[in-house]
Amino acid sequence: YRTLRLILGDQLNGAHSWFANRSDDVLYVMMEVRSETDYAWHHIQKVCAFFAAMERFAVRLRHDGHDVLYLTLDNPGNEQSITRNCSVLMQRYGISRFEYQLPDEHRVDQLLRDYCESLDIEWQAFDTEHFYTARDEMGNFFRGTKTILMENFYRHMRKKHHVLMEGDIPAGGVWNFDTENRKKLPRGHRPLPPLLFSNDLTVQKERIEAAGVKTIGTMDRGYCGWPLDRQQALELLSHFADNCLPLFGTFQDAMQAGEWSLYHSRLSFSLNTKMISPQEVVDKALSAWENGNGIAINQVEGFVRQILGWREYMRGLYWMVPELNTLNFFGNTRKLPNWYWSGETKMNCLRQSVKQSLEYAYAHHIQRLMVTGNFALIAGINPGEVDAWYLGIYADALEWVELPNTRGMSQFADGGITGSKPYAASANYIDKMSDYCKGCQYNNNLRHGASSCPLNSLYWNFFDRNRTKLEGNPRIGMAYRIWDRMEPAEKEATLRQAAVYLAMIDQL
Ligand code: FAD
Repeated sequence: YRTLRLILGDQLNGAHSWFANRSDDVLYVMMEVRSETDYAWHHIQKVCAFFAAMERFAVRLRHDGHDVLYLTLDNPGNEQSITRNCSVLMQRYGISRFEYQLPDEHRVDQLLRDYCESLDIEWQAFDTEHFYTARDEMGNFFRGTKTILMENFYRHMRKKHHVLMEGDIPAGGVWNFDTENRKKLPRGHRPLPPLLFSNDLTVQKERIEAAGVKTIGTMDRGYCGWPLDRQQALELLSHFADNCLPLFGTFQDAMQAGEWSLYHSRLSFSLNTKMISPQEVVDKALSAWENGNGIAINQVEGFVRQILGWREYMRGLYWMVPELNTLNFFGNTRKLPNWYWSGETKMNCLRQSVKQSLEYAYAHHIQRLMVTGNFALIAGINPGEVDAWYLGIYADALEWVELPNTRGMSQFADGGITGSKPYAASANYIDKMSDYCKGCQYNNNLRHGASSCPLNSLYWNFFDRNRTKLEGNPRIGMAYRIWDRMEPAEKEATLRQAAVYLAMIDQL
């Protein structure tokens, strides 16, 4: 072979121009390595799903006539490092050219850039041909502006890609249908059960366990419900368009005990591994709407905003703010409570959200933002520990999208780059959007006392202790006005309660 082409685990894009022609000169390499299994403490389903999806992709490429070398974790010749494996293969096959697709993560990006600089053969990096935007596109869009508002970027993307536009006017006359969306699930309403695939991953699981890789979570009887190839991903997309999209917007912020995925698409794993592209997901939603399947515009706009807006925006931020992983605006240092790893807490909202995350490697956006994220924010947890948890527990977790969502949006550790105010909430929000409080041992209406919901006292403690950092924020004034009008004795009891709860945080 003349050329070695590296395919990373999240680069399973069969439509890439690399694969348009086959050549006897090209050897593709894919590998399962310890450097990737060990940079975070991953969910067992995440590692298994990645490895199985990679292997299926290799089989597909071979079927199309490409030469692919697939190194399993237990291969005795596996050097357990991307670059060391590449070097061995270059030697073995007398390779004279190295090619790779741009990684989405700073860590791997730097690794491969340094590696290429050390090579004495030709090399070239290619785009992944997956996203709507190039890495630096958002940075260029916002150059010279003070605020990096997602809404501005989203409108630009709608116009640029002619999505939900009638000429220069947004379809339906407005850009945003939030007032019609975000409803609580009505009593007795049961969404369809989620579509799960019965992929048997016993082989991958045994391989991972035998290697002694530390993982979290469970995978019942070796079966994993995530789509592991393009065909399954397309099936999930069709299932979503037919069954979930018609109510996606309405219930996108709803939470319900026992309902772990509701009307969400669970396409994040397929998207982040690039089995399917954001454009085909958006196009599918648009055609379902245009075909007049009774899908209202608020549903489809709500969904398009997630992909064309939020997903590309988060990617843009990740490349715009390379120091994001070091920011800690509130100076938080507290350890993450132990029950984030077990779900064993009396707070029903947190128990439900953590337990389902351990069981399915999945929680939907509002559970991540307003339940687990909110608790960590108001309790003042070290954002490094919060990041590590989110980076490991979800099947879709990759740093480029995890970090801006966690450090930025959820923990406000960037001081307001990602969002204009912290997403801090008391039990009031949880009760408004879910039925969690009904099945809880704590009382969501109390601010203090032994049965008071910890979220209430921690919420006020958060605003009180961060006053100098937040008071000037025009979007937060209301919270301080309410706090300042409270009786001194009430405030004192609330803060005392917060101190008690923080001291026993592992037992909450
Ligand atoms: P749906 O609700 O069906 O939305 C459709 C798609 O829109 C998703 O598949 C996703 O690709 C995209 N999307 C929606 N919201 C966002 C967002 N805020 N940022 C980027 N894309 C979005 N998403 C990840 O893909 N990986 C992560 O590691 C990740 N970590 C997160 C951590 C925190 C603290 C928070 C608050 C959010 C995180 N998200 C992450 C964003 C979002 O929660 C998930 O994309 C979503 O829950 C995936 O489930 P779904 O496919 O059913 O999404």
